[in-house]
Amino acid sequence: MAPAQPPPPLAGKKRRIAMMTSGGDSPGMNGATRAVVRYGIERGCEVFCIHEGYEGLVQGGKFIKKMNWSDVRGWLSEGGTLIGTARCMAFYERPGRLKAAKNMVLNGIDALIICGGDGSLTGADKFRAEWPGLLQELVETNELTPEQTEPFKHLNIVGLVGSIDNDMSGTDATIGCYSALSRICEMVDYIEATASSHSRAFVIEVMGRHCGWLALMAGVATGADFVFIPEKPRAENWREEMCRIVAKHREIGKRKTIVIVAEGAHDKDGNKISPDMIKDLLADKNGLALDTRITTLGHVQRGGTACAYDRYLATLQGVEAVNAVLEATPETPTPFIAITENKICRKPLVQAVLDTKEVAKAIEAQDFDKAMGLRDTEFTDVYNSFMTTTATGLDDKMMLPEKKHMRIAIIHVGAPAGGMNAATRAAVAYCLTRGHTPLAIHNGFAGFARHHGDEPIGAVREFDWLEVDGWASKGGSEIGTNRELPSESGMELIASLFKQYNIDGLFIVGGFEGFHALSQLRQAREKYSSLCIPMTMLPATISNNVPGTEYSLGSDTCLNELVRYCDTIKQSASASRRRVFVIESQGGRSGYVATLAGLAVGAVAVYTPEEGINIEMLAADIAHLKQVFREDSGQSRAGRLIIVNEKASKVYSAKLIADMIREEAGGRFESRDSIPGHVQQGGVPSPMDRTRAVRLAIKCIEHLETYEDRQDATILNDPQSCSVIGIKQSKVVFTSMKDVEELETDWPNRRPKNEFWLDLRSTVDSLSGRPVVPRPE
Ligand code: ATP
Repeated sequence: MAPAQPPPPLAGKKRRIAMMTSGGDSPGMNGATRAVVRYGIERGCEVFCIHEGYEGLVQGGKFIKKMNWSDVRGWLSEGGTLIGTARCMAFYERPGRLKAAKNMVLNGIDALIICGGDGSLTGADKFRAEWPGLLQELVETNELTPEQTEPFKHLNIVGLVGSIDNDMSGTDATIGCYSALSRICEMVDYIEATASSHSRAFVIEVMGRHCGWLALMAGVATGADFVFIPEKPRAENWREEMCRIVAKHREIGKRKTIVIVAEGAHDKDGNKISPDMIKDLLADKNGLALDTRITTLGHVQRGGTACAYDRYLATLQGVEAVNAVLEATPETPTPFIAITENKICRKPLVQAVLDTKEVAKAIEAQDFDKAMGLRDTEFTDVYNSFMTTTATGLDDKMMLPEKKHMRIAIIHVGAPAGGMNAATRAAVAYCLTRGHTPLAIHNGFAGFARHHGDEPIGAVREFDWLEVDGWASKGGSEIGTNRELPSESGMELIASLFKQYNIDGLFIVGGFEGFHALSQLRQAREKYSSLCIPMTMLPATISNNVPGTEYSLGSDTCLNELVRYCDTIKQSASASRRRVFVIESQGGRSGYVATLAGLAVGAVAVYTPEEGINIEMLAADIAHLKQVFREDSGQSRAGRLIIVNEKASKVYSAKLIADMIREEAGGRFESRDSIPGHVQQGGVPSPMDRTRAVRLAIKCIEHLETYEDRQDATILNDPQSCSVIGIKQSKVVFTSMKDVEELETDWPNRRPKNEFWLDLRSTVDSLSGRPVVPRPE
């Protein structure tokens, strides 16, 4: 994900870069503007903001403003776009673009970074293609002289995709889409409570004219009964299909019905499917006769501050956009900044715009397979996951022949993390759809072991779908989790229990203890044949310190909690303005949470266990703070934050650091420590943790299934039969435990050897203006 260490400032002529936001506003746009302004200045450029989108570029004058470092202070936590956005008719026509080109030259701007949706980026691409012709015309009509246009022969344009719909091809996520999804899920969670109380049905309309990402993800994250999306209309008989599924859910005892419909939903013939049509069907007296209400979420979906992911995505993409401008040659095709799984990369803008238009065309031509194919792989995966979880027990097509059925045990190990329940629900749904028997092991290995002997206490039981179906959005661990390792419970006992319950496959959801437990089970396989079964693990821990993956379930929920906490506390300083908060984050011996939260809130410094803390660092940071407050004109509205991981130092605790700062400040500013503690585990898991839980858990059970008829020896010889699923750069992969244990694990520090995010520390520093601090060796 990381852009590399910042290169030195440029020598020679200063580049003049302009940043603009355009089209519909989306949360995170301010983070992108802040990053472009600050990183651009750090790289030796002059940075301008164009206010009101293309309208500002066409009109010029006061709409184009040079930016200073401090102009964007506090922008990360603001919703919408502070430089304004607009729909501009003039830019669709050449005369409008001619005026825009003239304003660029008059302001000496030779590069444009545009954050907007596919329309805005199409306009940008057209602008660049026409650029030489526009300059020529400006000279021919004596609007500009050849000398004026000479230095501007090459226009660099870089696109940042800002849109709540996530409708741009070529990138997994657009800046703003996860914030919009969070808002939708929050609303659906509220509605569920009232729906369940009254045993009602709700039809919820969400945004998405050509793109069903929001509707689909919200459906998966909330465990909705049915979704309608434009890319994949239901079968001809969608009415019967929906009623059959809803009726089945009611039959097994569900008291609420939630149907999510994208505003662009239609049937296979292109006829619109409206919320009213769905409501009439659900309420039909001769059919389901459900008391049904419609809720149209509308503009709340755009509102509010950005979630943690959108803040650091926007920040890292903004940095990458500036790098793209500075590295561009006249031959470089216009790029846009994308993210594929966990990797930020540049891709050709023209192709992405063409592919995006192709989706709309394919939908119009009713070629829905093509429309789905043009979306990213996650979209199709999630669609299939949704179908599995909503039609559990209804679809015989997926059922395996009886001899292939497995008894699959599911266990949670370690501390609770957001998404554990959603993963379990999805795994159970998938098992039931295939005919397997999913078994819950309650309270980790400790609970499993307690069941042994003459007094079974119910620590293992078959899952009941009605109970599990309500777990999509639940925090904590419904089956109970525990840190105990199999070696502590007694490996012989554990092995005998695997035999007693005829377990054919094991699915662990957990953190570093889960990883350690799996390592022990793998090593005990030679000795105990009952352990010669396929085993896989889905990492789930707020610390995100499990080797074999760059992302663990729960880490996104934790970051959101921490960001919310930091925003609140920062705001509380607004009365005095001159206060530094030293906030202690969790994360074990991994500084991931501290660093990513630092990126998302704009911390002035982050202290991690990887780096440690020494007196020189503290002295340099205190000197920096003194300078910041000396230069602060008093207009910035909030305090400053330092984030320190709980294990960054044995000596320098958050309190001690805050005391040192206060002492050194000599009354010129204040300092306080603050410890959010277990709040960081989060209440309701974030939609990202929930949707990824579903997608990855199903992949895990599919992986176990591939071993359904293997013999002990084959399993022992196949390293992949004991593996951990992970997101690594741009891919979802299973890595054999043996490899991860031996090559990727820093055992004494309980974290991966090469943590992918380490380079991000320098980005936090760059964007907060922290001087190069003396770091420990
Ligand atoms: P959203 O995804 O929120 O709709 P968008 O960027 O797609 O965002 P649009 O309204 O399509 O929003 O485009 C924003 C602006 O970009 C337009 O008002 C117009 O000024 C410019 N623009 C869009 N398409 C073109 C085009 N084909 N040629 C020139 N300019 C365009």
